[in-house]
Amino acid sequence: MPAPEPGGEPWSTTVRRGPDGALAVAGLDVRDIARQHGTPAYVVDEADLRGRARAFAEAFAAAFAPEAGMAGADVYYAGKAFLSVAVARWVHEEGLRVDTATGGELAVAIRAGVPGAAIGLHGNNKSDAEITAALEHGVGRIVVDSLPEIDQVAAVAARLGVVAPVMVRVTTGVHAGGHEFIATAHEDQKFGLSLTSGAAAKAVETILARPELDLIGLHSHIGSQILDLAGFEVAARAVLGLRADVAARSGHLMPEVDLGGGYGISYTGHDGVPPTPEQIATTLAGAVRRACTDLGTDVPRISVEPGRSIVGPSALTLYTVGTVKDVALDDGGRRTYVSVDGGMSDNIRPALYQAEYTAALASRASDAEAVTARVVGKHCESGDIVVHGVALPADVRAGDLLAVPATGAYGRSMASNYNMVPRPPVLAVRDGQARVLVRRETVEDLLALDEG
Ligand SMILES: *Cc1c(COP(=O)(O)O)cnc(C)c1O
Repeated sequence: MPAPEPGGEPWSTTVRRGPDGALAVAGLDVRDIARQHGTPAYVVDEADLRGRARAFAEAFAAAFAPEAGMAGADVYYAGKAFLSVAVARWVHEEGLRVDTATGGELAVAIRAGVPGAAIGLHGNNKSDAEITAALEHGVGRIVVDSLPEIDQVAAVAARLGVVAPVMVRVTTGVHAGGHEFIATAHEDQKFGLSLTSGAAAKAVETILARPELDLIGLHSHIGSQILDLAGFEVAARAVLGLRADVAARSGHLMPEVDLGGGYGISYTGHDGVPPTPEQIATTLAGAVRRACTDLGTDVPRISVEPGRSIVGPSALTLYTVGTVKDVALDDGGRRTYVSVDGGMSDNIRPALYQAEYTAALASRASDAEAVTARVVGKHCESGDIVVHGVALPADVRAGDLLAVPATGAYGRSMASNYNMVPRPPVLAVRDGQARVLVRRETVEDLLALDEG
């Protein structure tokens, strides 16, 4: 199938095809972007990204307002999807907080001027240095992921003379991805503390006995690229149940519950309808309200952690076409292999998760008939695929620009230097102007690490 025309998903909101058929982002022709900054390049549509962040902030503020019988909500942007100083600043300006999972991500949020109280720290194997940096900066929460981490955080807090606000990451047995969820996922994975085995309750009890720790809540993250919200409702009920149990046993009713992130987006325009922030917020608010009524507890303040649904649809990757090769298939058909100047080093998701993307000829219009194309990279690996199958004009040729939409999440953040390929820049476009958020790496940058 061809990529849908710009003006809807999976393109960011300001992408348009101009009079001569070339794409423009926020009024800037992609040929100008390529001339000024080279390819490959990640091109972020700033207004689109800010709009998605604002939509989440507003939808959660409305659905969880005290007037709606709720206790408020905070939206944390999951920085691992893509974090730079400018992006952290933008999402914070639009009303979001920032979730970090390493000292590096924490450093970016701090550099962006995000106040400590608006930063969270995750991670299943935090170092003392990371915990120290987080507490010195006064982060709003550390999400504890294991029993040994409780002593570790308490020791750092004692050394610094502070009380550390912590949450416990609970695995509820709900796991989701795409359209499906399963309510009793096996717990043979590295994250969190199991609800059913009692490990989560044990963690809660241990934390309550530590004066260096303030147990502010429970946390649940059930998966990624989730289109069906039912799994979140089941997980919310499970976590709220544990919260009520703890209150009954210890008298401590935790003030907060985090329901994680993972809301799905459209990558190809043919892959299902993603939930809107309003649908997510109202569905979660309803589930929380019902569960707390049944449990006889006050509602907690809720937080969520969207990553890809904020930054994913906001960026496209611009590539230049090189070699084009026609290959005969066993079934008698043909496939056109279109090689571009990047690949698995700038987008590992097709190789890692069989993720589907689409692509469109971006630098011109074409009346040529469509061929079935596979867009591939320049790496020494046959799995180096950017788009498995997409209809492209048969006259696609060297020098053309291709645009792959919805690459804002887990593209640059998972990029590598495989084959000693320097990583592409991240450009922000707004009102017809591009600016560099993260500059292009050079071979000199790579050689600078090589001690010879
Ligand atoms: C990855 C992750 C997220 C964000 O997931 P998205 O699919 O990008 O929304 C949120 N919370 C936690 C704990 C995560 O690990």
